Order: sequence, then C-alpha cells, then structure tokens
Amino acid sequence: MTKDNNGTCRLCLQPSVLRNSHILPEFFYSDLYDKKHRAISVPSYAKEKTVQKGLREYLLCQECETKFSKYETYASSLIKKIRTSSIDKKDNFIDFIVDYKSFKLFQLSLLWRAGICSDKSYSQVILAKKHEEKIRYMLHKEDAGKYIDYGCWMVMYPDSQKIKRIIWSPSMVKIDGHNGYKFMTGNLMWYFFVSSHKPNADFQSSFLQETGLLKIWLDHQGEAIVYENMAKALNSRKVK
Ligand SMILES: [Zn+2]
Repeated sequence: MTKDNNGTCRLCLQPSVLRNSHILPEFFYSDLYDKKHRAISVPSYAKEKTVQKGLREYLLCQECETKFSKYETYASSLIKKIRTSSIDKKDNFIDFIVDYKSFKLFQLSLLWRAGICSDKSYSQVILAKKHEEKIRYMLHKEDAGKYIDYGCWMVMYPDSQKIKRIIWSPSMVKIDGHNGYKFMTGNLMWYFFVSSHKPNADFQSSFLQETGLLKIWLDHQGEAIVYENMAKALNSRKVK
C-alpha cells in the first residue's frame, strides 16, 4: 500500500499531502523486456548506473502530479509513434508535428524531476539553483517558454537491439561548449542544454520548435559504439 506524507510540494511550494511520484514515467519501461519478458543483462559494474524500474519519491501534491500526468499521457502516445514509425536507412532524421506546449513541458518535467530527485541514479543531474527555479516556475505556470529555453536534442537508434532495453542513469555532458545532460531511455537519447548562453544555430534548429516541429535525429550505426563506449566509461568510473 502506498503511504502519503505531509510536506511541501516541490512544484507549487504549498504545504500538502505529498504523492509518491515516479521520477521517470512508467511508459519508459515498457520496452525494457524482450518477448519472453527477460530484462537485458547488464554487466555488474554497470548495474548501479542504470535506473531501477519504478523509482519513486515524495515530491508533488496531487494537483501537480495531475499536471505532470497530463503531459505524460501526451508524450507516451507520441513516443510510441516515434518508435514505430517507418524509417528509411537513408534518413538522417524524421519530422513530427506535435503540440509544443505539452511535449516541451514533458521534456522540462523530466529534466527537473531528475534534478530534484535524491536517488543516486540521478546524482549527475545537478541543476544550478537559478535553472532549477526557472524550470520549476515554468512547470508550475505551465509556461513552455521559448524553444531555446532548455532545448532538447533528440536522437534515436532505430535498429537497436541492446540499448533499447536499458535505461541508463542520466549523465552530465558538454555539448558544443554548453553544459548539458544526457538521458537515455531505451533507444531514445535526450540531450538537454542547460546553459545561460544560446547554442549555435544547428543545435537551435534541432530543438522542438514553437511551430510544433520536432526533429528526431537518427543514428543507424551508433548503437554498438554507444554501448561499447558506455561500458568502457562505466568500467573506468569516469562517465562523461
Ligand atoms: Zn503542488
């Protein structure tokens, strides 16, 4: 049985009965098992770097939890559509027209939850106070902001066999000189830019646009390299 706690909601900052909230939405885990319902085996040194299924924390009041679940419902069907769309090997990206506000707020909710969560799987996501507060305010007011505000560049490995069944702990990355965080949820990568400076035009055009244009970049070869590099990095405990 789930127990509720009294405390201050991290989103609206009101004293409330807190819900035991998911850090990552449940639907992210649906591809983690193969047809025989076996989870992929992860090398033992890497286990602590993967995100445990169903991780929860007392963070939000019911009202704020309901806000997030609205974006999650939207994102869940969109991500399913992305993952099942037909892809030509020659394509470098696929375009979707999405609801800017719903999906942008979903992206921000991922980043923000990872930033405030105290579990060690998310320990690399350290948002500077000014960014944490700005994102909290945007989410609280349901203001998706401009497309360059905490933009997210999304890459998919369409033919993945291994990584599609793993959720790795988010890691800190440098992207074109900007601070950022990489989230890997199965075969989808989310590169969040968390910087006070504008990224260059190429990256800007890769973010979800206010017109609703969402570009998903495709990497047809990258999976093996990603997996190998990750294993090496994890092994040496120097995750970049
Ligand atoms: Zn609240």
